[in-house]
Amino acid sequence: MAHTWDLPAPEAGPILRPNAAGLSPGELGSLLVNLGEPAWRGKQLFSGLLRQRWTRWEQFTTLSKALRARLEAQVDLAWPAIVLSETSADGSTKHVFRLSDERQIEGVFMPYEDRVTLCLSSQVGCAMGCTFCATGQMGIIRNLSAAEIVGQVVTMLNHHAHSFDRPVNLVFMGMGEPLHNLDHLMAAFEILTDAEGLAIPPRRITVSTAGLVNGIDRLGIYPRRPRLALSLNGTTDEHRSRIMPVNRVWNLEALADSLGRFPLQSGERITLEYVLLKGVTDSLEDGRRLAAYARRFPSKVNLIPFNPHEGSGFEPPEEARISALCRLLVEAGIPVSVRRSRGQDVAGACGQLVREGRFLKPQKPEA
Ligand code: SF4
Repeated sequence: MAHTWDLPAPEAGPILRPNAAGLSPGELGSLLVNLGEPAWRGKQLFSGLLRQRWTRWEQFTTLSKALRARLEAQVDLAWPAIVLSETSADGSTKHVFRLSDERQIEGVFMPYEDRVTLCLSSQVGCAMGCTFCATGQMGIIRNLSAAEIVGQVVTMLNHHAHSFDRPVNLVFMGMGEPLHNLDHLMAAFEILTDAEGLAIPPRRITVSTAGLVNGIDRLGIYPRRPRLALSLNGTTDEHRSRIMPVNRVWNLEALADSLGRFPLQSGERITLEYVLLKGVTDSLEDGRRLAAYARRFPSKVNLIPFNPHEGSGFEPPEEARISALCRLLVEAGIPVSVRRSRGQDVAGACGQLVREGRFLKPQKPEA
């Protein structure tokens, strides 16, 4: 079993001046010290960016006009621009963002009674090539910077005038494999959780990986980190390898070893996401293997009936089969939920985020 995977390298991305949205309070403080200002002004600037969610220099009235002009000469204040928004019948809104190099990514704002959930992208495209996923067919273009990740959150919260009357959950389930862009992801995580800014609790942030074991191991080293979800989607190596190429490098056994050594806090569980494809991943035998796998480490299972999209070659499961699989897992003592994907009618659901016009028809696995 190989323990590295030479994934196609993302493009370097545009060479930009530092973007204020990707700097921590300490980094902003250093910037201000270099401008002859006290370091504490870094917190003031950070709070304006993340707590007030100001997006233009003239809004920073806590700073003098002269200082604003000197800051503007040093750093950008560039947020991803929303170029298209489509709201689904269930209230979810898919947004297409244009980045500074004209690349496009997508995010989804999902309001619920007791919370709002933002589905975020971590890369332009994705190198993992999962066959059921529209984004996977694009290939990897480039990583998002920390500022671009933070920018999706602030831009969506501002667009929907969210006042934090309900808590915000962040899920990295949009475009990209977040653990393939771990450095920028964790820089964004620190900014998003900082008490001087949005102060989103780490337990409300989840990264979903396709099973990049070297990334899981690296994530486990961070003392403060997001919750982990694994996109499992297959219960045998033969099966999983057909739909998720990462399984040819780290098979189910290697993955279970990695999840078993992942340091969890008391009561924390790893979420196993399992997309139900009719006749492919939804047999009762799959359910039994899924239950056995889930028992190997503290976990809960999230069943995701497939969202059909053009050219996928897959179908959603029958309702009766979903119920049967739920029962089977509950009887095996595994916490289980069924994700009724939101935003389905605007192609904003997991695995349907695709841009750049490079969609290739995925191959249906051989029988
Ligand atoms: S499912 Fe996730 S990891 Fe797999 S190709 Fe799609 S975006 Fe990438």
